[in-house]
Amino acid sequence: MSSGVIDILVDMGFSISKAEKALEITGNKGVEPAMEWLLAHSDEAEPAPEPSIGESAPALAADTPIQDNVASVSNQLVSTTETAKSTKCDVCGKLFNSNLEVEFHATKSGHDRFSESTEEKKPLTEEEKREQLKMLEEKLRQKRKEREEQEKKDALEREKNRIRSGKEMSEARKKLEELEMKKLLEQRKREKEEEKEAKQRVRAQIEADKAARRAKATAESNQSINTVSTSLSAVSSATAMHHRKDYTETRLQLRLTNGQTLTQSFGSKEQLSAVRLFIEMNRTDGNGPFQLMTTFPKKVFTDEDYDTPLDVLGLVPSAVVIVQKKME
Ligand SMILES: [Zn+2]
Repeated sequence: MSSGVIDILVDMGFSISKAEKALEITGNKGVEPAMEWLLAHSDEAEPAPEPSIGESAPALAADTPIQDNVASVSNQLVSTTETAKSTKCDVCGKLFNSNLEVEFHATKSGHDRFSESTEEKKPLTEEEKREQLKMLEEKLRQKRKEREEQEKKDALEREKNRIRSGKEMSEARKKLEELEMKKLLEQRKREKEEEKEAKQRVRAQIEADKAARRAKATAESNQSINTVSTSLSAVSSATAMHHRKDYTETRLQLRLTNGQTLTQSFGSKEQLSAVRLFIEMNRTDGNGPFQLMTTFPKKVFTDEDYDTPLDVLGLVPSAVVIVQKKME
């Protein structure tokens, strides 16, 4: 705290030693009391030269008489005060005790040329003191303002940094969240696929079971159909057997041209010529040439038909054969 205050006072143009003295005397209560004290005592001599005299004193004391020493010191003091007693404004001729006063005058009047003067400046008037106090207060206000602005700037910078790091944090968090979300989504996708596969397996199993059941049912019904068809074919083969047994013989009614009918059984494999021969041998209607025909269906037998077996001609198991006079 006190070093900061000293910096401010030095900034304002006071020497470090004077600033330290002011702080000590005003009980380290800050810039303002120290400054008021400095202002009130601005016409006092700077305490700075004291250490340099103290330093040179032992060397002098070693090999020169005390009397000479005193003279030398006073000479030194004189020469010091002569070289820089005050600063003079070259424009208006005013004298100033400190850089602060010079600065104040330059700011206020616009005068910009100053030189060191050996003239001693008379103590400040009350009005001058008030003016200087005002100026110092103004300067202090400005310093405070600057400090506050700097603090604001620093705070802003800190806030920016905080925001930046916060932003980076939130970005990092967002990235992490995105990554986790992605992982989660991938896991979910994987789970869904596994679920789907499992479902498909179950479905396939169900289908397989159904198919097996269907196959079994079909096999069973086929078996029953087979049984039926077997019994059916047994029936039909029995019928066929019956027919075939019938077909070995056929019973023919032979209607002669005079209206008489001869009835005779023939082997079903016998040819129609056998029937013709039977008619020639047993007819009662003369011995003229004749042809044979059926009415159901109507068919007149040709020469070729006489070499054909009766079952092939469809004259089984019985038939009516009509004898017709053959026109020459
Ligand atoms: Zn001036």
